[in-house]
Amino acid sequence: METETSEHILDTIRRVWGYDSLRPMQARAIEAGLDGRDCLTVLPTGGGKSLCYQVPPLISGRTTVVISPLIALMRDQVRALELNDYPAAAVHSGLDAGGAREIFARLRAGALRLLLVAPERAVTDGFCSTLAVLTDAGALNSIAVDEAHCISQWGHDFRPEYRRLAELRRVAPGVAMQAFTATATPRVRVDIVEQLSLRDPEILVGTFDRPNLTYRVRARHKPEEQIGEAIGRMNARGGGGVIVYCLSRAGTEGLADKLRGLGHNAEAYHAGLDPRRRHRVEERFTNETLDVVVATVAFGMGIDRSNVRLVVHANVPKSVEAYQQETGRAGRDGLPAECLLLYAPSDAGKWEQLIRRSAEEGHADEAATRAQLELVRQMRRLVTSMQCRHRALSEHFGQAYENESCGACDVCLGETEAEPDSRRVTQILMSAVARVDQRFGAGHVIDVVRGRDTEKVTRFGHDRLQLFGLLESKRKTALVGYVDQLVAAGALEQDPEFGTLRFGPRGVGAMKGEIEIKLARPIGTGSKKAERRRGKGPAPAPTDLIPEDLALFEKLRSLVRDIAVERGLPPYMIFTHRTLVDMIQKRPATLDDMRLITGVGEAKLEAFGEAFLRALHEE
Ligand code: ADP
Ligand code: ZN
Repeated sequence: METETSEHILDTIRRVWGYDSLRPMQARAIEAGLDGRDCLTVLPTGGGKSLCYQVPPLISGRTTVVISPLIALMRDQVRALELNDYPAAAVHSGLDAGGAREIFARLRAGALRLLLVAPERAVTDGFCSTLAVLTDAGALNSIAVDEAHCISQWGHDFRPEYRRLAELRRVAPGVAMQAFTATATPRVRVDIVEQLSLRDPEILVGTFDRPNLTYRVRARHKPEEQIGEAIGRMNARGGGGVIVYCLSRAGTEGLADKLRGLGHNAEAYHAGLDPRRRHRVEERFTNETLDVVVATVAFGMGIDRSNVRLVVHANVPKSVEAYQQETGRAGRDGLPAECLLLYAPSDAGKWEQLIRRSAEEGHADEAATRAQLELVRQMRRLVTSMQCRHRALSEHFGQAYENESCGACDVCLGETEAEPDSRRVTQILMSAVARVDQRFGAGHVIDVVRGRDTEKVTRFGHDRLQLFGLLESKRKTALVGYVDQLVAAGALEQDPEFGTLRFGPRGVGAMKGEIEIKLARPIGTGSKKAERRRGKGPAPAPTDLIPEDLALFEKLRSLVRDIAVERGLPPYMIFTHRTLVDMIQKRPATLDDMRLITGVGEAKLEAFGEAFLRALHEE
């Protein structure tokens, strides 16, 4: 059912952006923006939040003020909008007085649809009085708060200056406030609504699943070779950007060296580099003259490159939230991309150590420490439980996953190996938990079934249990994974505070062998043969390009790069890979056909249409 408004909205997005449809939550967020209703929109990275606040002022003919925390992103957004002839500007500390004056003149003349401003600037007296004047004149569409989780201490990027944004309510009474974030936790959501004093807000939460991402988890043996292979897979499908996340600065440098040794153009990036060099890496990555960046998590916030095709975690990240956010940088253009996580069983232990040490040094109180340890445990479970990764991620964020199999993760693609002895292993582990009175953690239970006579085992007399040593032949890492899988299956529960194992709702059934839980060998603990099969792996998610088209794709890409250099803009701003793929598949013959290509609005059609028609059809 399409209302009149939505037809109006569709016309606008076709004309300005060249998009043919809206994503589910976008339509409702835009309508809230047009109705002057407070709203909180939660969409994952790449979900299309910006369109939600860019469209309403274009239709209402008024101005929306956007609070945005990063100058780099503000600038990028303005430049991208200008390419579509969309009147937007950003005021920030990098601007000289003349520049700022000009922007305010355009604002007062009603010539701007979007004004981006940093939070600390938004609450200054000067800006507030401008805001008040615009409000009185009825010239404001709404106030949009981007990255709204920055207002919450429970978010991952708290910024105290966000706390003052509620003051804007007083300055602009009656003007709707719209908040946007990718952070899904309910606590942060509640905090945003309260802190911004949103009035009866519409809360829109999009799906967190990213169907175009293929998730893979692999045992880490030779990271540079494993990453090199994944880059090879990617290059065979047209190439793109690669981000490799490491835990430490030294780790980034070492891995970047090794990748260069294998012939990849790779650079390290971390907070310890001098700012000029850091900036240069960011710039080259954005301009696509550099494809592989090996970085600490310091890299990413200001990076908007839409054709990142591979995100690698060389170590297990510290939480599922962090993992989702970091992998979220892959495939923002909606085309297939891969997320590869390299895992060693010691990774989680390292995090636990770090967290405990930080607590001992008095940096975190007991509750916060416990919460962080639980986050690490959840992440470890995601890695070791052989459940569809798309399903596990969706469920982690409180959303049901409808598909039986995703076709885009190592588990569903059959790249993991079943434990042939599932029932027996389950029964022994469950009995062991029962025999030690459900009072010990996984490490001890595993010592018992593997027949290790540690001091603790002897002290409690657990070496005299009948099942002592029954699973002697199993590797410790495999058993750690099985315990996690039993927790995930509801047979066991793990105390979030002490890590003690006790029976879950399916525990008794599993122990008696009435409930069968299919255990899978955790990555890296299976047979050599399976390892080799995994190494090759099938092609990731269905690619949109057939091999014969790769040459043409390369040609269009280099045309995009030429235009980008000429204009001093990053290539993806000219056209995304999705647009290029669409051109190749539809082969438009005329400028009129070109209108039907996604991402080609009126302004870009006029500026670049001819050149791309020529490139598509000349030999
Ligand atoms: P977010 O801010 O939520 O991370 P963006 O607003 O940057 O996401 O959008 C991500 C990508 O999706 C951009 O390349 C954008 O142009 C594209 N996009 C957004 N909405 C649509 C749509 N309705 N149709 C096609 N592409 C879209
Ligand atoms: Zn799956």
